[in-house]
Formats: sequence, structure tokens, C-alpha cells
Amino acid sequence: MKQKHFKHKADRAALLRINLILITLLLATAALLMITFQTNRDIHQLNTEWKKYSALTRNKYDSLNELRAAIGYSGFIHHFKNYVIRRDPSYLLAAQQEMMLSQQLLSQYQQYPMSEREQQYLQQLIQVIDRYASRLQSIRHNQASQQSVAQLDDQVRVDDSPAAFALSQLAQLLSLEHNQVEQQTSELMIIAERRLSQLSYLGVPVLVILCIYCGLLIYRLSHSQADLEALFEMIPDGFLVADSDGQIVKSNPRLAEMFGYQPDELQQKRVEDLVDPHFAKQHQQLRQRFSGEGGLRMMAQNGELFKGVDKNGEPLPLDIAISSLSLAGIPHSIAIVRCKKKELALKQRSETDYLTNTLNRMGIDRLFATEIERCSRYRHALSLLLVDIDHFKHINDQLGHLAGDAIIMVVADLLKKESRPSDLVGRWGGDEFCIVCPETSAREANGLALRLRQRLATSRAIAPLINKPITLSIGITELQQDENETPETLFARADEALYSAKDNGRDQIVLCPASASDRPLADPDSH
Ligand code: GH3
Ligand code: MG
Repeated sequence: MKQKHFKHKADRAALLRINLILITLLLATAALLMITFQTNRDIHQLNTEWKKYSALTRNKYDSLNELRAAIGYSGFIHHFKNYVIRRDPSYLLAAQQEMMLSQQLLSQYQQYPMSEREQQYLQQLIQVIDRYASRLQSIRHNQASQQSVAQLDDQVRVDDSPAAFALSQLAQLLSLEHNQVEQQTSELMIIAERRLSQLSYLGVPVLVILCIYCGLLIYRLSHSQADLEALFEMIPDGFLVADSDGQIVKSNPRLAEMFGYQPDELQQKRVEDLVDPHFAKQHQQLRQRFSGEGGLRMMAQNGELFKGVDKNGEPLPLDIAISSLSLAGIPHSIAIVRCKKKELALKQRSETDYLTNTLNRMGIDRLFATEIERCSRYRHALSLLLVDIDHFKHINDQLGHLAGDAIIMVVADLLKKESRPSDLVGRWGGDEFCIVCPETSAREANGLALRLRQRLATSRAIAPLINKPITLSIGITELQQDENETPETLFARADEALYSAKDNGRDQIVLCPASASDRPLADPDSH
């Protein structure tokens, strides 16, 4: 069996597009997030490094300036030279103190990270300071005070130009390094800025366009969903979707109206709750049997309609078209239910005689043909009786048409009462009736005809209407097997028999063709 799946091409294409866009959106968002994250990280790193570096260079620069002050011409060299010229021991002391400070600052400066060149210049500086330190160590104030300025100068002079050069080079290298780092930082800042502008100029519009497109698709899908819902609401037939257990999962208002329920009430029902309890099991089996087949009109056996039941227990003749579909991978059945109650009532009315409530010619024609076909196929007996009221014109003339109508109704009621439920009783026209008796031989039909005449003769319903007896002429014929019988051939023979009865004086039963065994048949009045 072929399982039918829910395939709406347009919706599937729209869903596919939405999926593609969502994937693209996810990828684009992930890329944008990555770029943003990386840019943020770079900026943060740049900021941290720049802070660290700028603090380091500032400290180095400050230390260098302090060193320069401690060494230079306001530092120990200045005091040393003043001592040489003036021989004031306070200058010697100040020089020694500044020297100690310089050495301290030098050892501090050595802690900073330095390039090779910086280390070379620092060594140069250290050498000069060491030389000065040894000169200061060697000076004895008493001896020095006795020497001339020139003698003392000769003794303690140190060439301090390498120190001045080293100090200026160190400052220059520091500013060079500062410039380099500044340049690198600005380059990195430019890269980060470029990335951010790429984000805003390219990524953001792409994201916005994709979002708008996705929104439009979702809007369209939701509209087509709403259209579908409106369609379900509008279709004049009942519509339901049930799961494999028969539980109703979706239904339209027409179905609820058909069965006399509120729309919400149906959501708690099973399909079998809507079927006549006598047929529920049969219906369940049918539903399960057909649940795998796509597109099937379900009729109960013998081409009859399904027997549904409404909320008040009233029977509903139903025509059901059922199909299967898969929703989210779960098998469901979908059914379109049409109530045939009005149609059947109309059909019945069109086949019913308005005066006697028996079948009219149209009804007889249809049902008689079916019965002939069935009895011929199974070689079963079937008889036809044509019953006509004798001298009915006189009754009409005597009592009027209304009384005539009443008598026609009494006769019709009698015919219905005396025949079997499976017999077809109809008014063939005017005061003439027919009775189709399936599974009945001419002999048995004759028995019915006798009974009819007797019951009419003793009818209590007739007495108030007319003061003389009403009689019937009856023509009977039987289905001839292997004769290719039709309603027309049977009616022709029954009509022939009826005419014979009339010709023979009325108030009698005639069989056509007359058979030896059927002829007498306990009818004392037959001629
Ligand atoms: P016969 O014994 O030969 O049958 O004579 P008859 O007078 O009954 O003649 P026939 O059956 O040919 O005539 C039937 C009459 O029934 C004719 C018509 O005026 C009358 N009739 C037909 N339909 C109706 C009806 O609906 N109501 C009444 N009151 N009379 C009807
Ligand atoms: Mg008549």
C-alpha cells in the first residue's frame, strides 16, 4: 500500500528557502560574531599592552632623568668639581651622596628590559661612574687641601663625555622604541577599525537583508497557513484529521455542525464516537484497513451509505472519502464527510406518492428493476400483483373526490399492512396499485391477493365512508427464470391478468400465465 505524504510543493519550496536562509543567517552571524570577538580581543590586548608598555617607558624615562640629575652637572659631577675648585668638604660629602644615589639608580635601571644597544650604553655609563667612584674613594681631604687646583684636577679628572653620550643615546633609544611601539599600535588600531567598518558596511546590511527576506517568507507561510485554515472553515463538507488510534486531531466547523457538537467538543472524540454503535467496530476495521490507501471513497457494504450518529443519537447517512497522510512522520487519516440526510429525504419524497405514502412510479421503477436483477441472478421467486379498485369512478361520482381519496388511502394502508416489509407497495396510478413480492411464488402471491380482498370486505375503515362493499380486481404474474425479464415484461403480463379479471366481471384474481396448479387456488369468487 502506498503511503501518501503531505506534499505541498509551494510550501515545501518556501520551507526549503527558509532553511537555506536560516543556515546562511547562522553562518553569517557566526562569522560576524567571530570577527567582533577577535576585534574586541585584539583591541583589549592592544590596550593592555599599550598600558603596560607606556607605564614601563614612563618609568624608564623617569629613572633615566633621575640618573641624569644624579650624575650630571647638578649631580655628583657638579659637587665633585666644586670640591676640586673650592675644597669645601661639604661638596665632597654631597658628591659622595649623589654618587651612591647614582649607583642605586643604575642598579634599578638594570632591572628594566633592555635591548643589547641599551645594555652597551649602560655599561659605558657604569664604567664612567665606576671611574668617578674610585677617584672619590681615593681623595683624602687633608692631602687634597694642600694641593693646588691643577694638581688635584690632574689627580681626579675623569673623562665623562662617554657618560654624557651614553645618557643621550639611552634617551634617544627610549624615544625611538616609544615611536616604534606607537606606530605598531596605530597600525593595529587601523586594522581593528577596518574590521569594524567591514562589519558595519558589509555584514550588517547582509544580515538585515537576510532577516527581512526570512521575515517575508515566514509572513507568507503564516498567510498560506491562514488561507488553508480559512479553506477548511469554508468547505461545505465535514473535514477531519485523525491519528492512527482514531482520535480526532483536527476538524472543521461544518463537521461539528453536522453532528450537532460545538467545534471544541470534537477534539475530545474518536472517529468511532461519530458512528452508529452497531457499526462502530465494522467502521474501525474498515478505517484500519484503508488507512494506508490514498484517496478512497468509503461506502458501507452493498453500496449503502455509512451510518453515523449525531449528538442526540439521531442517525446520519454519511458518504465518507478517506485518505492517509503523514504528519511529522506519524501516520494520520484524513476524511471528508458528506451528510446525505437531506438528499435521501428529497429522493425518498420524489419516489413517494403524496396521497398514500406508498412508492410512486419512479420509486417502483427503480426498486423493481433491482429486485428483478437480484432474484434472476439467484434464481429466486418474485411475483407482481396489480390491484385495481372496481368501479371507482362511480364512488367518486357518488361521494365526491375527497371521499374517493379517503378510500384510496384506506386501500393503500391495507396493502401495506398485509404485505411483508420486504415487499414493495406502490400506487401505479389513479385507483391502481402494485405489490412487488420478492422471494414469493405466484401461488403465495395469490394467497396475499385473497387476504387483501377478504380484509377489504371486512374493513372497519371503509364502513364510515361508503355504505356498500368495495371490491378489488387483482392480476398476478411471476418472474420467469431464463426469460430475460424486465419490469415492463412483468407489468405487461400483470396488466393482462388484471384486464382479464375486469373483463370477467371484476372482484376476482387472475394469474398470467395461467397455470394449472395455480388456477383454482381457493378463490371462491374467481372466474
Ligand atoms: P374499473 O372497475 O374498470 O376499474 O372502473 P373504474 O371506474 O375504477 O375505472 P378506472 O379504474 O379506469 O378509473 C379510475 C378513476 O379513478 C378515474 C379517476 O377519476 C379516479 N381517480 C384517479 N385518481 C384519483 C385520485 O387521486 N382521487 C380520486 N378521488 N379519484 C381518482
Ligand atoms: Mg378502477
